[in-house]
Amino acid sequence: MNIEQVCHEAYDVCVVGSGPAGIVFSLEYTRLNPTKKLLLLEYGYKGQPAKNALDDSISINNAVNHHSPYECTNKGLGGTSTTWGGRCVMYDEVDFTDRPILQGGCTWDTSLFRELTTFTSQAASYFDCGKAEFNLHNSLDLGSHRIAEGFQEGVVTDTVVERWSIPTRFGTKYGKEILKRKNLTFIQAVEARDFSFPEQTGSISALLVRSVITQKCYRITAAKFVLAAGAQETTRILLRNPQLFKNLRETPGVLGKYYQGHLSGKIASVKFYGNPLNTKYGFDVDEEGIYIRRRFQFTSDYLVKHNLLNTAIWLDNPLYYDPAHRSGAMSFMYLAMLMPFIGKKLAPPAIAHSITKGRVNKLDHHIWNILRSIPASLMIPAIIFYKRYCLKRKLPGIFLFNNQNKYALHFHAEQTPRASNCMRLGVDGESLVINYNLSDDDVNSVISLHKTLDKWLRACGCGELEYWYTEEQLPAAIYAMSKDGLHQTGTTRIAASPDKGVVDQNLRVWGTDNVYVCSSSVFPTSGQANPTFMLGTFAVRLAKHLTAS
Ligand SMILES: Cc1cc2nc3c(=O)[nH]c(=O)nc-3n(C[C@H](O)[C@H](O)[C@H](O)COP(=O)(O)OP(=O)(O)OC[C@H]3O[C@@H](n4cnc5c(N)ncnc54)[C@H](O)[C@@H]3O)c2cc1C
Repeated sequence: MNIEQVCHEAYDVCVVGSGPAGIVFSLEYTRLNPTKKLLLLEYGYKGQPAKNALDDSISINNAVNHHSPYECTNKGLGGTSTTWGGRCVMYDEVDFTDRPILQGGCTWDTSLFRELTTFTSQAASYFDCGKAEFNLHNSLDLGSHRIAEGFQEGVVTDTVVERWSIPTRFGTKYGKEILKRKNLTFIQAVEARDFSFPEQTGSISALLVRSVITQKCYRITAAKFVLAAGAQETTRILLRNPQLFKNLRETPGVLGKYYQGHLSGKIASVKFYGNPLNTKYGFDVDEEGIYIRRRFQFTSDYLVKHNLLNTAIWLDNPLYYDPAHRSGAMSFMYLAMLMPFIGKKLAPPAIAHSITKGRVNKLDHHIWNILRSIPASLMIPAIIFYKRYCLKRKLPGIFLFNNQNKYALHFHAEQTPRASNCMRLGVDGESLVINYNLSDDDVNSVISLHKTLDKWLRACGCGELEYWYTEEQLPAAIYAMSKDGLHQTGTTRIAASPDKGVVDQNLRVWGTDNVYVCSSSVFPTSGQANPTFMLGTFAVRLAKHLTAS
C-alpha cells in the first residue's frame, strides 16, 4: 500500500514513529489483536539523504553538555536503534519514590513500578537480552561472587546488573515481520503534522501527514493514535498541536519542561586491595549466553535518607586519549577512532567522542605504547574487533584487565527535573529550541556518592578511591565532562492531573480520549538507567491496555 491508498482506509490504531517504541508497540498490538488494523508511519526512508529538515531545525543552547541533533537520534525504520549501544537497564524502585531533591518532580509512584515489572519479560524478548532478571541475588552461580575481593553488600551493592541486547537493530530484526503481518501497514517518508480538533468527548478523528519527498499532505483516519516519534519529536508534535488540549482550556504548562538526561563521566579510579584475578572487571555471561555486567549502586533507603540522586558507577578503562595508561592496545584503538573514515565506521559519533573526547593528544607517545608492546597491542584489538563486529551477539564493550587491580570509575547519574531545562518551539512555530543545563544539586550528588563508595570500600577493607581532581576542582570538572542528549526524558511526563503532567498513567494525553504517547519523554525521573528497556516495557503494557479498552 502507498500513502494515497492508506488515506482511504480507517485504522484501529495509527502509530507515529518506527523506533524501538513504535515497533515493539505495533508488533505486540497486532499480535494481541489479529482482527484489528494498525498503520505505522515513519519520517525516514530507505535512501534518505544525510540531512533532514527535523534535525536541521533544532537548536541547542549548550554544546558542552548536549550532543548535536544528528548525534542524538536517527530517522528511518528502527529509529535510533540503528546506532544505540544495546545496554538494557531496569529502572529502580527509588526512581518512583519522591525525594525532596526532586522538588515535586516525581509525578509517578511505586505502584506503577510494581505493575511494570509484570511486563518486563515480554519486553526482554523483543530486545534479545535474555531473562528480565536484573539482580544477581537470584542467580546461584553469579550471585555468590563479589565484584572484588573483600567487598560486602550494604549501602553499596554489586549485584544489580545491566543486560546487553545484541545490540538489536529493530529495523533490521523486525523489518520482514512488519511487512509480513497482514494487519500491519508500514508507510515511510511521511511526517506526522496536525491533529484534527477534539470532539467534546476528547476524541480525535484524524491526523494530517505530509510526504517528506513531495510535501503533499494526506489525512489519516484512526480510532486511536500513538505518538512514538522519540522524545524530542513527540514533544514537538504536541507543542505544534495546542488544539489537542482544547477541552482542558489550555495546554498543560509542563509540556516540554523538565527535560532530563544523565550526568556521565569519570572523576576517580578505584584501587582494590585483593588479588587482581578475583576482580569482576569485565562481562559475565548468563546461562543463555547474554552479556551482563555488574555496577556499583546504592540502596534506595540510603538515597532517600541522604536525599541523593540515583547513580550507577562501573569499572572502566583509563582515559584512552592519555598515553599515560601505557597500554598498546588502548593506544591502537584510540588512533583507529581518530582516523577520519575508519573512526566513523567503528562507532557512532557520540560513542566515538566518549572515547577520544574530541582530542588529538600526544600521538608520538601513543605510537610508542603500541611499538613497545607488539604483538599484544595488535592482537588484543584484532580479537576485540572480531568479537565486536563479526559475531551476531556482539561484545558490547571493551574492558581491559589491570594487573595493579586499579580501574577508572565511570558514573552515570540521575538529573534533577527542572522547568528551565526544556524543549520549546522557536518563533516560527516549527523549529525546536532545547535548553539543557546541569545544576549544582546534580553535580554535588555525584561527588557525595563517590565519597560514599570510597568510605564503604575502605570499611570493607576492599579498596579505596583515588581522585583525578582536587576537591575544589571536582564540580567544574563534572560540569565540563558530562554530555548527554542521547537519553531524553521528562518533557511529556506522566502525572495524575494535567496541571502536573501531559499524560496519565496509561499514557493517554490529558484532554484527549484517544491520543497516547509511547516515548521516554513520559518518564518524570531519569534514574540511573538508560531508558530504552523501560520504554519497551511501557510499549508492551500500552499494547495490552489498548487491547482491553
Ligand atoms: C549513540 C547512542 C547510543 C545509545 N545507547 C543506548 C543504550 O545503550 N541503551 C539505551 O537504553 N538507550 C540508548 N540510546 C537511546 C536509545 O537509542 C533511545 O532511547 C531509543 O532509540 C528511543 O526509542 P524511540 O522509539 O522512542 O525513538 P527513536 O528510536 O528515536 O525513533 C523515533 C522514530 O520516529 C520517527 N519520527 C520522528 N518524528 C516523526 C514524525 N513527525 N512523523 C513520523 N515519524 C517521525 C523518527 O524518524 C524515528 O525513526 C542511545 C542513543 C544513541 C544516540
